[in-house]
Amino acid sequence: MNKNILVSGGAGFIGSHVCKLLNQKGYTPIVIDNLSTGYKEFVKWGPLIKADIQDKKAVKDLIQKYEPIAAMNFASYINVGESVQNPSKYYVNNVANSTIFFETLVENNVKNVVFSSTAAVYGNPIQDKIDESHPYLPVNPYGQTKLMMEQILKDFSTAYNSKYVIFRYFNATGSDPELEIGESHYPETHLIPLVVDALQGRRESITVFGDDYDTADGTCVRDYIHVLDLAEAHVLGVEHLLAGKDSCIMNLGNGNGFSVSEVIDVVKKVSGKEIPVTSGSRRDGDPGTLVASSKLAKDILNWSPKITSLEDMVNPVIQWREKWFRKN
Ligand code: UDP
Repeated sequence: MNKNILVSGGAGFIGSHVCKLLNQKGYTPIVIDNLSTGYKEFVKWGPLIKADIQDKKAVKDLIQKYEPIAAMNFASYINVGESVQNPSKYYVNNVANSTIFFETLVENNVKNVVFSSTAAVYGNPIQDKIDESHPYLPVNPYGQTKLMMEQILKDFSTAYNSKYVIFRYFNATGSDPELEIGESHYPETHLIPLVVDALQGRRESITVFGDDYDTADGTCVRDYIHVLDLAEAHVLGVEHLLAGKDSCIMNLGNGNGFSVSEVIDVVKKVSGKEIPVTSGSRRDGDPGTLVASSKLAKDILNWSPKITSLEDMVNPVIQWREKWFRKN
C-alpha cells in the first residue's frame, strides 16, 4: 500500500507542520494549496499542486496520479474578526468550496478524512473546561462555518460510507524547533506572532482587544496549543482511520488558559525586553474565555500535549520570526 496522504492547505501554518511530521513517520504528503494565504517555501516534504480545493478536475487528477489513502483538510479562512465583517467570504470558501472538495474525494473513493474544526463552534462557554458535549452556539461566522462542515461530514459518512476524524483546535501556536517552517499567517492577525512583531520592531505596539472581560485580569483567556502537538494528533488521527476505527470528534488543547496580558508578559520575560502595549476595544465575535478538556483525545488516540508552558510555545515563534523576516 502506498503511503500518500492528500493535504489541502499544506502550505499554511498548521498544514506544513503536519506535512513535516507525516514525512518523518514514513508518509508522503501531497499538498493542494492555492497559495492565497500559504507559502510555497513551506511545502518541503512532497509535491505541491497549486490549485483551488473546489477545482474538481485538479483534485480528481491528483487523486488518480497519487492514489492517496486518506486526506486532511487545512484549507480554510481562519480569522474570527474578518468572518464577522465579511461572512460571505467564509461561507463560500469554508462551506461551499470545502463541500465540493469532500464531494470530489468521495467520488474518487478517498473516504478517510481528517478535518480541522475549531473551539469557536462552542461560542461562549458555560463550563470551565469545554468538553465535546458542550452545546454548539458559535458567536461568529467562522465558528458557524466549521460547525456546518462537521454536520456535512457526518451526513457524508452516513450516505457515502466515508469516515472522519474532526479536531476542534483551540489556539494553535509555536513553530518547528528546527526553524524550517514556523508561525506565519498572511495577513497576520494572531496574538503571539503580533506580540513578537512588536518585540522585534516590525510594528509599533501590540493592541489588547478588550480589558473588561470577566476574567482575572480583564483580558481574554485562550488555551494555546503547540503546533507540534497538533501535528502529532493528526498523525494519530489518520492512523486511527486507516486502522478501520470509528469516526470521532475531539478537542485539541493543552487544558490551561492564558490571558492576553499573560502572553505579553511571557514574551517580555523570555526576551528581557519591553514591548509597547496599547488598549483597544473588544474584537467582534470574541468570547472571554476558551479552555479545552482534551480528555477524549487522550482516551481515543492516547494523545496528550507535550509542550505545555507558554515559554516553550513563544520561544520558537520569537526565533522563527526573526529568521523569516531577515529573509523575506
Ligand atoms: N488579540 C489581541 N490583540 C491582537 C490580536 C489578538 O488582544 O492584536 C486577542 C484576541 O482578542 C483573542 C486572543 O488575543 O482574545 C487570541 O486571538 P487570536 O487572533 O490569536 O486567536 P483566536 O482566539 O481568534 O483564534
